Amino acid sequence: MGKVFLIGAGPGDPELMTLKAARALRSADVVLVDELVNRGCLAHARSDARIIEVGKRGGCKSTPQVFIEKLLIQYSRAGKTVARLKGGDPFVFGRGGEEMQALMEAGIEVEVIPGITAGIGVPAALGIPVTHRELARGVTFVTGHTKNGQEPNWEALARSGTTLVIYMGLGNLKKITSALGAGGMNLQTPACIIENGTLKTQRQVVSTLGELSAAGFIGPAIVVVGDVVRFARVAANVPKARAA
Ligand code: SAH
Repeated sequence: MGKVFLIGAGPGDPELMTLKAARALRSADVVLVDELVNRGCLAHARSDARIIEVGKRGGCKSTPQVFIEKLLIQYSRAGKTVARLKGGDPFVFGRGGEEMQALMEAGIEVEVIPGITAGIGVPAALGIPVTHRELARGVTFVTGHTKNGQEPNWEALARSGTTLVIYMGLGNLKKITSALGAGGMNLQTPACIIENGTLKTQRQVVSTLGELSAAGFIGPAIVVVGDVVRFARVAANVPKARAA
């Protein structure tokens, strides 16, 4: 019987992957890799490892989740060491929990290797301390992508006093910023969008809740709302978002 490593590859820059992740990759016979994972991370895989791309981006061609789980089970039952490489942290908006459940139900050994989630690593790359003591009482990670209409309670979040880090928020950005405003959040609250964070292709815009616009961004991107965004160090050589 093989084993599955459920690995977080970090937010983008391959150097932000952990040593433990690199070691697990080196031991793998098969690597199942998500689209968001930077291919530089695969430098740690053995040259004879089978690499299987299981892309999954909103709206694009993707490998059904059931199929991914089947592959994981099939290879580990065949005695292989399997690395399941996911962007950021496997348990933060990454379906890692579902995969772990499926594997456990199939009686397969799973080892989880956490990674730096985009919601922390990407703002940090811009100098944003998501829980700066004087400016935020905490940080809330939410998804802005709502397939079944089960939206986060934006009004409650508007009053939470925490930094809001919104994953997959570009598509609904107007709706989200209006809902936060309607919930009582000051429209002058600093806010930013960071696309392709920690990568050479990173772009960002720093603005206010009232003015923030997703125009010109295609993602993946993180939206950060809160006073801590004042710390954003926007390097002069980083191009601004294109106008729509
Ligand atoms: N498990 C991942 C999140 C998967 S959901 C993690 O812990 O980071 C995918 C979303 O993560 C994207 O839509 C985007 O909102 C965010 N994301 C991932 N990588 C990113 C990056 N390099 N820059 C900005 N946002 C990113």
